[in-house]
Amino acid sequence: MYYRVIKLSHPKKVHYWVDPNFKKYANSSSHILRGSLTWNPTSEIQFTKEVSVIGGADVKMEYIDKYSGDTYAIHKGNGNITFYKKWRVELTNMQQKETSAHVVGHALGLKHTQSKNNQNSLMRQFGFNNKDWALSDDKAEIAKKH
Ligand SMILES: [Zn+2]
Repeated sequence: MYYRVIKLSHPKKVHYWVDPNFKKYANSSSHILRGSLTWNPTSEIQFTKEVSVIGGADVKMEYIDKYSGDTYAIHKGNGNITFYKKWRVELTNMQQKETSAHVVGHALGLKHTQSKNNQNSLMRQFGFNNKDWALSDDKAEIAKKH
């Protein structure tokens, strides 16, 4: 899901905050970082700095170790992302990274792709490609937005 997005004021200097709670779980920290860094090969977006204070971040990734229905992760608007227990315990490593990249895509202003483009997009609404990098449809949308 996605909600209202404020266009990033400095998309080539995106600062991000990662909830220290991710560090409690072996692989989660690196999988969460992949969600941001996956966008850096695009020329329009650069995640440049992990900040330790949430208020200074453009994209904020919070972890709640509880289930929230069927939700793996959600962008709540304005760069605020929450990951839930279902993301950590039910997905493969690759799917965790793909989901991180997807939900950060929402924070960057991307909506779900049309289903015919599912194979070419992190932003498919359902299911996984088992690829954690920006695909052709994603790059085209980023170029349109930024
Ligand atoms: Zn989505």
